[in-house]
Parts: sequence; structure tokens; C-alpha cells
Amino acid sequence: MMGNILIVGAGIAGLSAGIYARKSGFEVTIYESHNIPGGNCTSWRRKGYLFEAGLHWLTGSGRDKPLNRIWREVGALTEETRIDKNDPFKICDWPSDSAGRLQVCLYRDVAKLETHLCEVSPEDTKRIRELCRDISRFIAFSIPVLDILLLKTAEKAPPVLTLLKMLPALLRYLPLSALSVADYAAKFKHPAIRLLLTSVVNPAYDALSLLVTLGCLASGDGGYIEGGSLILAANMAKRFEALGGTIHYGKKVEKVLITEGKAAGVRIGGETIPADACIVTSDTLSAIDTLFDPPVSEGWSRRMRVKICRPGALIMCSFISIGVEADLSNLPESITFPLENPFGHAGQLITELAYKLYFGSAGYAPAGCSAITILLAGDTYDYWKQMREQGCYGECKRELFEQILAALEKQLPAIKGKVAVWDVATPLTYERYCGTYHGSWMTITPPGSMRVSYPYKSRRVGNLYFAGQRIIPPGGTPVAVVTGRTAAQYLCRDSGVVFR
Ligand SMILES: Cc1cc2nc3c(=O)[nH]c(=O)nc-3n(C[C@H](O)[C@H](O)[C@H](O)COP(=O)(O)OP(=O)(O)OC[C@H]3O[C@@H](n4cnc5c(N)ncnc54)[C@H](O)[C@@H]3O)c2cc1C
Repeated sequence: MMGNILIVGAGIAGLSAGIYARKSGFEVTIYESHNIPGGNCTSWRRKGYLFEAGLHWLTGSGRDKPLNRIWREVGALTEETRIDKNDPFKICDWPSDSAGRLQVCLYRDVAKLETHLCEVSPEDTKRIRELCRDISRFIAFSIPVLDILLLKTAEKAPPVLTLLKMLPALLRYLPLSALSVADYAAKFKHPAIRLLLTSVVNPAYDALSLLVTLGCLASGDGGYIEGGSLILAANMAKRFEALGGTIHYGKKVEKVLITEGKAAGVRIGGETIPADACIVTSDTLSAIDTLFDPPVSEGWSRRMRVKICRPGALIMCSFISIGVEADLSNLPESITFPLENPFGHAGQLITELAYKLYFGSAGYAPAGCSAITILLAGDTYDYWKQMREQGCYGECKRELFEQILAALEKQLPAIKGKVAVWDVATPLTYERYCGTYHGSWMTITPPGSMRVSYPYKSRRVGNLYFAGQRIIPPGGTPVAVVTGRTAAQYLCRDSGVVFR
């Protein structure tokens, strides 16, 4: 059967599923509630500033990684794409008694990193060597790009060699997944090294995620693609449409219609649109309850509700963007620093901030100006919801912005009195624009617990497929693109079609 496939969502997973399904010969239409592609992988413009929100580094941007082939197949990366591998990747700017400030750098080069960290903290030498040995083991680690069993495919991926190369990293899997990033960092005596390590990925993640990320950076992967989120998503949408696929923007799917155990189509604006199969790529956690009547009730969906909704598992943020009429291009672009005066926000004590700078010379701000972004992680969904219900949402956003600005002005005196524009996006903003559960865009697997993946196919409805960030925690754009591809493979296998 070469049928008519409907996809819910034009995020990275939806575009990926659409591209592979279209390449394999299906008629594919994507319905997207927003007016642009990309979902959470997005940025926005305000008064001539471009605030990059959804992409800080791209796993698979390194040419020799299996994932790189996928990003190229879906058109996200092209021969023209410029990739910036900033080194150091991040700096912790620490107040020091003698020299004023101490800058502790996260170099991508492992030997340079080891020498530098040992100079900063000789008493941590043993730990630093262990860290650098671990990073070296994870250089060969990559997200495997595998084909599903019994798939007819034009070109098979060579999985065994890839897995063999990853053996040294895999041997560290259990010990590292038992520890949180915060626990791993706490073993270092120097507070600046501790802060540096906890600012790479969320400190509540397991240490395995930290090492995977550090290995990725050290391997020459994890670059930032010029133009960021918007270009990545636009390139994929362009590839999908060039293949003959159709995207309808501003079309929110209200329900996926199930008739006699089959997905019969979707309902949009009261109208029924028939389909031979549906791929749901909007947040699975949200979709299982909102897109189906009755809600999906299969073993995996019940497990998903329990595991992902437990406290601390949902990654979300308040995202603060500030445009300043000051040229900061002589400064490092990614800094973490402890606050002289910590402040309270939504029941949390904010003791440090991490900012990223983007410059006018690269098109992120008017000439001679700079864009600053700050990602404040934490489950503040209930707080913001309450503030909105009490009618003080805007006021609380301003209060947060002012607290952050006061801290930033101490760190970056050049921005004093130079703010041209500011913006605060909260989990409610992400919920509204992307339809994700509580505005969450990734998932934490608590240290010491099994990483659970979820199926791509409904157990009860034969022609209903799922893809996206929730299928393989922790999620992110690599998971989105890979799960979209895999959902298309299931569709091909079930339809007896060669996957291309
Ligand atoms: C601030 C921030 C920073 C991040 N940093 C990184 C990073 O550096 N590296 C990285 O890899 N990842 C990062 N991520 C995570 C990454 O962006 C997401 O995990 C990934 O984009 C999820 O893609 P997805 O396609 O699974 O889902 P989504 O992005 O959620 O896409 C789903 C799409 O479905 C649409 N939709 C929802 N409901 C409906 C409906 N009913 N009808 C029609 N359409 C619907 C949505 O509008 C959306 O376009 C970041 C995310 C954020 C927010």
C-alpha cells in the first residue's frame, strides 16, 4: 500500500518522518499548529535582534559521525552550512582572592583541558585525569543510527563496527548512570571546576549524559550551525517540500480519529481529513491524552505518564533574551558565573547564571550591538501558571528580567543603560507555541534508574505511529531526527515498501 500519510507536527521529528516517508514513495501531508516549522528548535526576532533559543550545539554536526549522514539526508546540513566549534566551549568566570577573576575553560582538546584544569586545581589532579580519561573513552561514542529488523531498505547502515568502537564508553555506562552530574562534580575540590561541570548539562541528569556531551565536544562534534535553529528547521522544511510533501501551517490537529481499530484521519477545525496512516510527532506525553478520544491507554502510555510526570523529570526553562546597544564581540561567548547576590525566583534560589552572547557581525543584532540569552532551568510551570491566573504574569516576567539584568551588569558593565529590548519566555510560552506538556522540551532519567524508551507504534492501532523527543529520553534534536526516521521505517515495513 503506498498511501496518504498525515503527520501531526512540523518539528524536527515530523519533518524527518515526512522526508523519509516521502522519499520512500508515500503521499505525505504535515499539519502544524504554529506558522513556522521547527517546534522547540526555534529562535525569535525582536527589534532587529535574533535570539537563539533552541540550539546550543548540534550532535551530529561532526562530519565523521553516523548522525551527520542523517542530518545531511534530511537537508538540515548542506555543503554551504558553516559550523562553529567554539573552543573553549564554555568558561567559568570565578572571583579569585589574588588575581581578581579566574577563568576556568572547558577546552574541547582533552590534553589541553587536562593541563589547564590541573594548573587551576593541583589538588584535583587525580580526579581531573579520571575525567579526561572518561572523556577520551566517550570520543568514539555516537548515537547509533540503526535500521529496524526485517526492513527492506535500499542501503543498510553498518551497526556492528560502530558499536564495537563504543565498547570502552559502554563499560562506563553503569557507574556513570548511577551518579547525578551534581554528585559527579561534587567530587572536585575546586568550586569553579564544580560550577563549570554542572553548567554543561542539567545537573540533575546522570553523569553519563555529561560524559556523552563532553566526548561529543572533544570528538570535533557538537558545533553550532550558523543561523541556528531557524536555518536547521527551514532547511528540512525546504527538503520536504522539494520532495513533493505538503505542510499546512496554522492547522492544529484536534483529534486523531480511530475507527474500527485503525487511524482513519484527523480532525482540524471540525473538518475530517482522511488518511491511510498517521504519524504523531507532537509531544507524545501530551498527545496520548489530548489527541485521542478516549486517551491512549496501553502499557507504554501508562508508564510514560507515571515516569515522565514525576517530579524533576521534565526539563523546562524560563528563557531570558536581552538586546544591548553595546559591542561585546571582544568577550568570550559562553560564560557561567556565581552571583554575588543570589536571588529567589519561583521558590528556587538562583546562585549562578550562564549567558551566551551573539554578535551584530554575525547577524544576530544590529551593527555594533549584541544579543544576550540566559536559560534558567527548573520546573516553574505551576509558578507561572499561578502568576497568570493572578493577573501578574507580565509583572513577574519584568521582575525576573530586572533581577537578571542587575546581576549581568556587574559581570558585563558595558551593558549598563544599553538595553534596547528584552523578552522572557516561560514554560507557558513553550506550551502555547509548541503544545508540549507543561512546556517541557526534554526529559531527565534520574540517576540509577533504567533509561526507558517508548514504542514507535501503537500496540492496538496498526497504522498509528509516534516519533519525537519523548520516545527516547533525554530527547533533543538528535532523538527527534532519528525517531522520525525510525517511524518512517515502521511505516515502510508495515506497508511492504522499500525504505529510502
Ligand atoms: C531553550 C531550549 C534549548 C534547547 N537546546 C538544545 C540543544 O542545544 N541541542 C539539542 O539537540 N536540543 C536542544 N533543545 C531541545 C530540542 O529543541 C527538542 O528536544 C526538539 O526540538 C524536539 O523536537 P520534536 O520534533 O520531538 O518536538 P517539538 O519540537 O515539540 O515539535 C512538535 C511540533 O508539533 C506541533 N504541534 C503540537 N501539537 C500540535 C497539534 N495538535 N497539531 C498540529 N501541530 C502540533 C508543534 O507546534 C511543534 O512544531 C532545546 C530546547 C529548548 C526549548
